[in-house]
Amino acid sequence: MKGNMTKIGLTTNMLISHAEKNHGQTEVLSVDVKGDVEKSTWQKVGERARKIASALDKLGLKKGDRLGTISPNNKEHLELLYAISGFGGIAHTINPRLFPDEIVYIVNHAEDKVLFVDSSYIAILIGHRHLFETVEHIYLMGPKKDEFAANMNGFKFLNDLTDDGDKNYNWPELNENDAAVLCYTSGTTGNPKGVLYSHKSIVVHANLVSLPDNFNLSARDSLLLVTPMFHVNAWGVTYASAMVGSKLVLPGPNLDGKSVVSLINNENITMSFAIPTIWEEVLEQLDKTGEKLESLDRILSGGTAVPEWMIRQFKNDYSVHVIHAWGMTETSPLGTANTPLGAHANLPKKQKIEKMYNAGRPNWSVQIKIVDREGIELPRDGESEGDLLVKGPTVIERYLHDKQSSLDNDGWFKTGDIGKIDSEGYLEITDRSKDLIKSGGEWISSLELEEIVRGHDKIHDAAVIGVDHKKWNERPLVIAEAVKGTNPKEKEILDFFKNKIAKWQIPDAVVFVDELPLSSTGKPIKRDLRFEFKNYFEEKKNG
Ligand code: AMP
Repeated sequence: MKGNMTKIGLTTNMLISHAEKNHGQTEVLSVDVKGDVEKSTWQKVGERARKIASALDKLGLKKGDRLGTISPNNKEHLELLYAISGFGGIAHTINPRLFPDEIVYIVNHAEDKVLFVDSSYIAILIGHRHLFETVEHIYLMGPKKDEFAANMNGFKFLNDLTDDGDKNYNWPELNENDAAVLCYTSGTTGNPKGVLYSHKSIVVHANLVSLPDNFNLSARDSLLLVTPMFHVNAWGVTYASAMVGSKLVLPGPNLDGKSVVSLINNENITMSFAIPTIWEEVLEQLDKTGEKLESLDRILSGGTAVPEWMIRQFKNDYSVHVIHAWGMTETSPLGTANTPLGAHANLPKKQKIEKMYNAGRPNWSVQIKIVDREGIELPRDGESEGDLLVKGPTVIERYLHDKQSSLDNDGWFKTGDIGKIDSEGYLEITDRSKDLIKSGGEWISSLELEEIVRGHDKIHDAAVIGVDHKKWNERPLVIAEAVKGTNPKEKEILDFFKNKIAKWQIPDAVVFVDELPLSSTGKPIKRDLRFEFKNYFEEKKNG
């Protein structure tokens, strides 16, 4: 027998309608490239989103069409996010830091019909526009400058679309299982892979992150969202903030320590979201100026391991609680978050802080387990180390256009991370089995770098590994075996990467060895290399 409650589905429209009606005067702020703050409210964001949605409808776009965005976090991007999924389309948030060829690949793979491009990223279009196979319209975001428009043949402005829109547009009824947002994540081999969120998974996830033992969000909060919307769906904060009716601050393209600190203090921010690289810059800035963070209660740091010293420094010097979280694009993204249990209340301060170091406990919608090589579950004893598997309603089932499910027969998704789980259910990420390096929150494929360096005629074999780095968390290091009789220099090997990959993906250094350690299948044993060279950059810096 079915339940007798209404069949109203969970859709993103519910969230923006709620924020518009019930938190209409709560501020949504947006910072532009010059650092000027534009003030808006949830009511105005909702109205503009409906106007854009109606204009997209009029353009003839259909349910399920993909519409790409290339933009930093700003008000227009937020409005587009709600407008696109609101009329039934799919908002494809594109990472502008990718190599242009990769952007072309994902736009074509997603079959985007429309692109919305912030004026700070126009360079991406030049020289590549003709390669977009399915794009029918390109709209520029940002203020309309007619002179500029006249020189940009064939581009239109988002503001024209908004002006043409109908502010009385009613959100259509949508199926909660329909797709709403598309985010690409890096593949270990070959091309990026598309993760397609449904309306339901987004709403369930927004509810989840708002819970007290996750981000503890409420209408009293003022949130600074540094994590870009094109990464991990911005931890679901664009939706959770509408759900709880908090103030939302979107920082635009300038994410340096100085800009972030001044936004926190000027806008009375209570919680902010970013990767450790940004938080390190924030601490450096505070150190330099002696400023404090009076309003800031907690920060979310994840995407890579958060250094223990950072957790201590925020707590001891600024009374800011660091919530260390683990998640993936494929898990919506929140998997685990580190918040204390009642049983920790009477622990001494030092022990309490030590409890904050790991990646935390799973939330109700994500089951986690660690398994050995045969797939047998390992005990939760804080000692056994194995592959991390996850399962739940906010976890991916298959990648975009894949025929095959990404789950095992029992519905578990293999994360490519290695970890331990302790008796209280806390997860510690100890390593990664996927061949990827994460530098400043962005992925670099070690396999791609190896393929390039092996193409150099003085290189016999090479492995590329991620090595600890204070600022970027990890940076790529090449361990190379030269062809006998040649004597390659580090610089010529590094130069060889130029124009083949994005500049920031080029390794920082090359170490030449006589022989690489090889496994029985003839592949370099990277685990050994990662262990041996773990502190390479730190030791080099210290001479
Ligand atoms: P992405 O989908 O780009 O967010 O990347 C997800 C991956 O980032 C995970 O599979 C981990 O390898 C890594 N990651 C995320 N959070 C953490 C964390 N707290 N500690 C260590 N690695 C993390």
